[in-house]
Amino acid sequence: MTAALEPLIYEISTPGRKAYSLPELDVPTTTLPDNSFLRDPDKIGLPEVAELDMVRHFTHLSRFNYSIDGGFYPLGSCTMKYNPKLNEDIARLPGFFDVHPLQSEDTVQGALQVQYDLQKALAEVSGFDAVSLQPAAGAQGELVGVLCIRAYHLARGDKARTKILVPDAAHGTNPATAAICGYQVITIKSDSRGNVDLAHLRQMVGPDTAGLMLTNPNTLGLFDENLLEVCEIVHQAGGLMYGDGANFNAIMGIARPGDIGFDVMHINLHKTFSTPHGGGGPGSGPVCVKTHLAAYLPGPVVEKELGENGDARYYFKHLPESIGKVRSFWGNFGMHVRALTYIRVHGAIGLRQVSENAVLNANYLMHKLKGAYDLPYDRTCMHEFVLSGRRQKAKGVKTLDIAKRLLDYGYHAPTIYFPLIVEESIMIEPTETESKTTLDQFAVDMLKIAQEVDDSPDLVKNAPYNTPVLRLDETTAARKPVVRFRCFG
Ligand SMILES: *Cc1c(COP(=O)(O)O)cnc(C)c1O
Repeated sequence: MTAALEPLIYEISTPGRKAYSLPELDVPTTTLPDNSFLRDPDKIGLPEVAELDMVRHFTHLSRFNYSIDGGFYPLGSCTMKYNPKLNEDIARLPGFFDVHPLQSEDTVQGALQVQYDLQKALAEVSGFDAVSLQPAAGAQGELVGVLCIRAYHLARGDKARTKILVPDAAHGTNPATAAICGYQVITIKSDSRGNVDLAHLRQMVGPDTAGLMLTNPNTLGLFDENLLEVCEIVHQAGGLMYGDGANFNAIMGIARPGDIGFDVMHINLHKTFSTPHGGGGPGSGPVCVKTHLAAYLPGPVVEKELGENGDARYYFKHLPESIGKVRSFWGNFGMHVRALTYIRVHGAIGLRQVSENAVLNANYLMHKLKGAYDLPYDRTCMHEFVLSGRRQKAKGVKTLDIAKRLLDYGYHAPTIYFPLIVEESIMIEPTETESKTTLDQFAVDMLKIAQEVDDSPDLVKNAPYNTPVLRLDETTAARKPVVRFRCFG
């Protein structure tokens, strides 16, 4: 269904109007080799409009997209923080923007230094020894990390490790990654406080364990209270600890996963380090490892040496035991520039403040909302928290309806129905870049919706009312999207 729209470009088409003007021909006219290759302009049916009509058309369409620059975006687990415009300015400097991946090393020393410095900065903040910037997303970082774990065991002649343990709170990419790497996935239960259930872990771990993939803080927004013990149990069995670093925004500058006991972790630059995401990318998911896994990283990595004149020289180092390349050329370089800019602007103290404020904002909002919605794990949260809409569901209104109603109030909906272990889950991550004013208004609107569920449930069940498209058949919309113009009626 479609709400009232401004006229589409096809509807205002007027024969003879043009959005372009060409300069006078200054070369001899010639015919094309074979006209049969050309389409008949009358049959293509392109709209005929003036330049201004065209600009309005595309500007209008662009406003259909919800964006972090347009409004509050509390999409849990995705860290939709503000992307500083300074990052864009720096990424567009000619020495970064105009370089070609096939240029020789000596002509792109500055670009290589950016990658080298970023590798060092990420190693420092995460507590690891070596970093590969190649992976293009968190999920690809996971693939790299687990392949490194596999290479490690195989290099030691240990072929008996066929299983990867994954807690039931995990993001779907964790079990998917383990399975794609050829491992059997063993699900580990969470306990009543939202931690890994140690008794269940002890029962499932063994000489066939290749490793455990853990997100910490986990997808409930909780720091695992038994983290050191979890690492110890897995290590004692000879397995390695994989850290899913998607939630790194909660602990930067406060705790370093490499010090805690993780062997490998990916970082989502497009989450924690303010490079833009959504709309299909490009993302960046660097992988950080301890020394015992460094040889297996996808190369090349950037190294530094001192030249004859004593100046630094940067070069690509190919790693002979590498699991292989996972991305063309040198990774999503523009994202590396943006992330390093963000790190340099904040400095060590600034990054710690980012995490402190992310955690503060989440706890503030959680306390404002926990009276109106159920909070299954009522603990101090980290950078996000998970409510349950089960109280509202008992009144006939689903979490999906609440999410749709939020669109009418002008928000992007939170993550819903994830993590899977919370019934009717509503996962809210405000991030540190939102003001108290925005959080207060969001809380007011969430409480209003809870009231609407009591007073006029149908209002919520039929939402949204103010969006370009109304309630969609979500399965059909995902499986058979209509992305071309069609005349309605
Ligand atoms: C986002 C996310 C991932 C996957 O990262 P992408 O960059 O989207 O591929 C993995 N695990 C968790 C917990 C996440 O939130």
